[in-house]
Order: sequence, then structure tokens, then C-alpha cells
Amino acid sequence: MTSTSPGPQTVLGTCHHDCPDSCGWVATVDDGVAVKLRGNPDHPYSQGELCPKVNRFLDRVYSPDRILHPLIRTGAKGSGEFRTATWDEALALTADRLHEVIDGWGGEAVVPWGDAGTQGLLQMTSLDRRFFARIGASRQIGSLCGATASAGVAATLGSGRASDPTDLRHAKHIILWGTNTRLTNRHLWPFVEEARANGARIVVIDPIRTITADAADQFIQPVPGTDAALMLAMMHVLIRADLVDHDYVGRYTVGFDDLAARVDAWDPARAADVTGADADEIERLAIDYGTIRPSFIRTLIGAEHHENGAMFFRTLACLPTLTGSWKELGGGLARSVGTWFDVAVDDSVFDEVSFPVPERRGVNMNHLGRVLTDPTLDPPVKALVVWNGNPVVTVPNAAAIRRGMERADLFTVVSEQFLTDTARYADVVFPATTQLEHLDVVPAWGHLYLGWNEPAIAPQGEAVPNTELWRRLSAAMGYTDPDLFEDDASLIRRALAGVDVEALRTRGFHRIDVPEPLVPYAEGGFATASGKAEFRSSNGAGGSDPLPSFTPAHESPLGDPALADQYPLILLTPKQHTRFLNSSYTHLPKHGPLEGGPFVEMHPADALARGLADGDPAAVWNNRARLSVPVRISERLRPGVVAIPFGWWGADHGAAATANSLTSAADTDWGGGVAYSDTLVEVAADHGHPGAGAR
Ligand code: SF4
Repeated sequence: MTSTSPGPQTVLGTCHHDCPDSCGWVATVDDGVAVKLRGNPDHPYSQGELCPKVNRFLDRVYSPDRILHPLIRTGAKGSGEFRTATWDEALALTADRLHEVIDGWGGEAVVPWGDAGTQGLLQMTSLDRRFFARIGASRQIGSLCGATASAGVAATLGSGRASDPTDLRHAKHIILWGTNTRLTNRHLWPFVEEARANGARIVVIDPIRTITADAADQFIQPVPGTDAALMLAMMHVLIRADLVDHDYVGRYTVGFDDLAARVDAWDPARAADVTGADADEIERLAIDYGTIRPSFIRTLIGAEHHENGAMFFRTLACLPTLTGSWKELGGGLARSVGTWFDVAVDDSVFDEVSFPVPERRGVNMNHLGRVLTDPTLDPPVKALVVWNGNPVVTVPNAAAIRRGMERADLFTVVSEQFLTDTARYADVVFPATTQLEHLDVVPAWGHLYLGWNEPAIAPQGEAVPNTELWRRLSAAMGYTDPDLFEDDASLIRRALAGVDVEALRTRGFHRIDVPEPLVPYAEGGFATASGKAEFRSSNGAGGSDPLPSFTPAHESPLGDPALADQYPLILLTPKQHTRFLNSSYTHLPKHGPLEGGPFVEMHPADALARGLADGDPAAVWNNRARLSVPVRISERLRPGVVAIPFGWWGADHGAAATANSLTSAADTDWGGGVAYSDTLVEVAADHGHPGAGAR
């Protein structure tokens, strides 16, 4: 809400980024210009701090590179050559071309692709659903992040709901499993430090020795994609050492005998063979987990990006169930808390339409490369509409996406703030507002506070919020259905029917109505068919093994030794930089350039075996793409694993390929996610192509 005193005004908002922290902020606005942006000191979770990216958000908002007017392509696709157009001209061209596609191939030949460039309730996905339903367009299905983790946990617990991450402050033993808390969930770290000050032991399990691992008391580094084997061995030890809470297991679980039989074969030595971790360390981890109470497990999203990603989360959720840790404040398991927000937010209102909607096929957003290049698809994709994302950089198998977007017969519309790698392939680009310029509400996934976002300044140039884009496109298409034109305030009011919206607006945040403290399964209450936590899944765990298990990915050294002979290195594409997030900020002068440029990081033994020294140009390739990047040698990775942090734009590095050109778009076991991290590559000296560019 805006302050009312004369002079500079302060306006409350919430960060919209694809980040669990959803920080509250205060913008200071003087004469219509935002002059300062700082964390909201009253926000109970972020407590007045933002992060190195968003501390410079005003540089982004007022960047001379912002797209401020509609653009129409004049050069070759991908060249980035456009001319400025009026809204009327760009809308008329778009409507004409969409009608041509619909008349020629049917509505399903139009494919929407939107992601989490903003996580605001309205501007992420709301009126777009009605617009594409009215067209009869293909439905976007699949998920790059989050859905697999939720589905995995649900196979054990019945829903994705788990603990409040901030309650780890009460723990005496904390396992940060597959999450780089200090970088990607930085506002949780003070809670970890609080627990440590009270005597907690901190364990990090991660395939990379991250800055979080550097701060741990114990670090375990499994081979990527093998964590479930580690969990099975932990349960083996817990049962062998009788560290099972028999009362809890008896009252609130089913399938214990089946689980015990399954993990009997998984002693630490076997898990050590699979994971590369030390057997004694696994033993100690299990004993500590079972004896130091309360013991809390914190995980987030990264581990789901494997073919066995859902099984990771399904198996992890068995650990606190076996030890009865759910009963304790400071125990349990925390992942995304987004699934709790349905107590406050009913986003089904965005699907409410009074016009008839035909049956529509689903098109998987994770498979965009295949979808755009598949000649057998019926109907073919003839129009692509992209918002809130830069799939040419962020989606796996991105080399195929580029090939698809080069198609002369594909009409592409992109809504963007900057001319990203993806926007360069558009026929029409519409200018999008930033979070300072539009109204929204932000549900969090790292804490339990809903955030308000009041627009602090007027839209820059002719930029519009996504909701306004859908309204303008609807009008240009000649549609008159009132559902397509509902205003933002009404959408918020109806989606937050049970929330005091005025209080939320005045304060800037609102704790959703769940118990405090949140100890969700202290007395059972699981949402499974049996009403109990299921060591043996009654829903078949998405068609996978109904018991916790370890299955190597097809594209992995254990899954396909012949392929691994050809491409012997596992490639990870982590988030690694403090100054950018996914593909946002990398192009801004005080962000990407300060992080250097793209590189491949590898263990000294792997570099030595290939005759590579630090800084040498190297080729990284597999059967999907080939990059040329310099080598960075470090011992953060185990031998056999390399990493290219993702997010760099090809256009900024004279390249037609980026890290995700190499990555696998294989499906996860269930949950609709994608197995980025089951990617094999080879690396060699690239004397023919020196320099830092990727191509
Ligand atoms: S990106 Fe994350 S840490 Fe940074 S301000 Fe936004 S929510 Fe906070």
C-alpha cells in the first residue's frame, strides 16, 4: 500500500522471481520514478533483506535495453532484427495470423508456452487460460519444476504437504538434501544458523560441493541420480539398529513389513557401491538421523530432475515416517510449501468460462524441441505463444527448440521485457511490465506468507501486464465473451475469497490460515487412500515400483554402459551465480559480466585424462549438441561429473547453443517433470575454437 505523506512515497511489493523466498519489498517513489528498492523490514521471513540480484532491480526496470513498444520482425528468425510497431498494428497482425492458423489447422495448432518468469498469481497464469480455451488451443501440460517432487511425496503422504521449513530452527540435526540453501534459499539460512547456535549438526548431501556444503558439519557427495540408494541404506540401518518408532509406524503407516524386506538387501556397502559415498559415512548418517532428535530434512527442487526424481521424494518422505519424526516440532521433512496455499488461493476461478470449450490435446512444455520439430504431429504446431519464459535457454534439448523456432511456417509471439534468445525468434514481440509496474499477489513456496504487490510506478513505455495482453489479444481476435475481459482486482478478489484482501494490501503480507506451529502428521492424518503413510503405495506410485526403490536412469553410466562409453561424463547444469537467476539478469551490465562467462567445471583427474588445463578451450558434446567453453578445474565435483551452470544467453556470447542444448528431455518417473540431470557428455580440447563462446 502507498504511504500518504507528502514527498517521496513508499509502496509495498513482493518479489516475483522463481525463488522460494518471495521477499517482501518497499519501493520508494519520487515524482513517479522509483528511486529505491529495499527489503521490507516487517516481513517475518525475509526480514528486510533482498539479494544481490534484486538489490539492483531498478537497473532492470529502467534498463535502456527494455522492450518498451511492440516489435515486428524484419530480419531472419534469430537475428534479433525488428522494427517498432504500434499496438494496433502488432495486435492486428497477430490476430490475422492466429485466425489463419485456426482456420487452416484448427485451434490446437496454436500452442501456449508460459513458465515462472513471474510467480505472481495473476501474471503467471490466469486470463491466458481463458484466452487459449476460447481459441481451442492445445493445453500446456508438464512441468519444468516442482510437480515431480510433489507427486513423489504424495505417493507416501497422500499429498505434497509437509513441514514448514522455518521450523528447522528447532532441530538438533538438519539434513539439507539436494538444496544449496545459502544460494537459492538464502533467507532460510539464518534459521539454520539459529539451530546450529543451539547445537544442531548440519549435514549436506549434494552431488556438488556447494557453498552450503562448505558450511556443513558433514558433507556426502553421491553420484548424481543415486540418492534413493542412500535412503534405502539409511532405512536398512534404522531398522537393523531398531531406531524405528514402532508405535508411530503401527498406528499411522501401512507396508512396513514390505519396506523392511526391500531395504534388507540395501546395506551401506551396497549403497556405497552405487552412490560412491563412504559406507561408514552412510552408517553414521543413519544412526545420527535416528538418534539425534529432533532431526529435520530440508529439500527443494533440484533432485527431481532425474528419471527417478519422483522416487527420490517418495523415498525421502519414508524417513521421518519410519522414525516418527513427524511428531516433533523441528522434525519431519520440508519441501516446497506451495501445496499449502490452496487454503487461501482458489485459482480454479481462472478456468471459469461461460463459453463452450472443446476437447483439447495436451502438449508437454518440457518437450518443446520435439513438438516444434516433429513432422508427424497432427495437427502440426503452426503458432507458438510464449510468455514468462526463455525456453531456448531454460528448457532441455534446447538445440531442437532453436531448430523448431527457425521454421518459416511457424508464427511466434513472445511477451517479454528484453530481447532474449527466445524473443529473437519471434515474429511479434509484445512489451511486458515488471513487478514494479503491475498489480499482483504472490503465493510463496519457501514460507507461509502470501505477498501483496502494489504497482509502484506506471508501466514503462507501452508495456502492459500479461493480463492486459490477454484482454487486448481477445479484443483483437474479435471475441466478446465477458470472461475474457475480467479486470485484475476482480480476479484477485474472487481467487482470494477467504482472505482479507484489504488487510493483505495494507500490511503487504498475510500468513495463510494453517496451524502455527505446523506439525502436520503428528497424529497421522495422511491424505492417502488408506489414510496412513504408505511405505507400500496404494496408488502404485505413478505406475512405478509400489515400494521405495532405486532404478538408474537410462542415460546414466549404470543405465546404459554402452552410451557411457561414448559419453562418459555426467553433466549437471546447476544454478550457481549470485547475480542471476535462471536466465534473468545475465545480460545486464552489473550481473552477467561480473560472473565471467560460461564454462565447464571438471575434476582435476578428468581434466588431466583429457590433457586439459584450467582455462583451456574445450568442446563439450553429446548426440544433441556441442558447445565450446573454457575449462574450470575444481574439486567441487567428483570424478566423472562435470557442470556447466545454466542461464547464460547464447546471444551474449556469440553462440547458437547454451548448456541446455545438451540436456536430456526424458520424462521423470511420474509427476510430469523432466530429467535435465540425466545427461551424458564427453569433453575434449577444442583448439580449433578458442574463446569463451558456446556454439
Ligand atoms: S530472487 Fe529470491 S532472494 Fe532475491 S529478492 Fe527475490 S525472492 Fe528474495
